[in-house]
Amino acid sequence: TDLADTVTLPPVPAGKRPATRAGALDAEAVSAWFGDRKVLDRVSLAMPAREVTALIGPSGCGKSTFLRILNRMHELVGSASLAGRVLLDGADIYDRGRRITHARREIGMVFQKPNPFPAMSLYENVLAGLRLGGVRAGRDEKDALVEECLTRAGLWNEVRDRLRQPGGALSGGQQQRLCIARALAVRPRVLLMDEPCSALDPTSTRRVEETIAELRSEVTIVIVTHNMQQAARVSDSCAFFLAEQGTPGVIVEHGPTERMFGSPSDPRTADYVNGRF
Ligand code: ADP
Ligand code: MG
Repeated sequence: TDLADTVTLPPVPAGKRPATRAGALDAEAVSAWFGDRKVLDRVSLAMPAREVTALIGPSGCGKSTFLRILNRMHELVGSASLAGRVLLDGADIYDRGRRITHARREIGMVFQKPNPFPAMSLYENVLAGLRLGGVRAGRDEKDALVEECLTRAGLWNEVRDRLRQPGGALSGGQQQRLCIARALAVRPRVLLMDEPCSALDPTSTRRVEETIAELRSEVTIVIVTHNMQQAARVSDSCAFFLAEQGTPGVIVEHGPTERMFGSPSDPRTADYVNGRF
């Protein structure tokens, strides 16, 4: 039974998170290496709480590496090392004594390829997120929380009658939204998304973008995308990454999305956002 599992913690209604969960993320002079190859050079970026920051730039310039550094996944790669700091609401997630699982709970990740637990039911997929987030609730509360997460991920109406089906039985776009629901169930302050739509068809892409639009103002979002229209549609600000001729990746320019697309100050940004390289 769920008895040992049963207790407390009423769900925090969306939009009523305590002020301590602001979710501002600041990267300070982050450099990264694989072996002795440097792939990021002193990248600093402020990602304001409850805004959407888009990371754009050509393949290989270090966007995914940067994203993995933001939730301590980079250090899981054998040859990887890094320098610099990452502050979540002012506290360095790399401080000694700060556990890796702490960062992982506060800062969720959604990958390019949807990766739900394929044999587990939709319900259990979301439940796994709730458990990771430390939510203990009775059966009815669990049902309500699962519904809330699936609703916020824009999936509830499509799956409400098939919660016991395996996650792997969904379409790609639905699997991605299930992954978003699972990530939200952990109640992160920040959600990182690495090209979340590049494996999806246009309809699913639109659904995910709608979800992002609804999450905006609740969760801080950092999204890597190669789709400039998407960056323009979903983000408040953009950072343009570039690694020129074998040099490590840097941020060439960042700023409000409107300005980055409308009147970028660096000609390389203008070329990139206009599809010229
Ligand atoms: P992006 O996401 O912008 O395409 P990545 O962060 O994936 O860029 O890669 C940045 C650089 O780091 C690339 O040159 C890539 O080859 C290298 N790289 C990425 N992952 C690894 C890894 N696990 N081991 C060695 N090199 C890697
Ligand atoms: Mg990448």
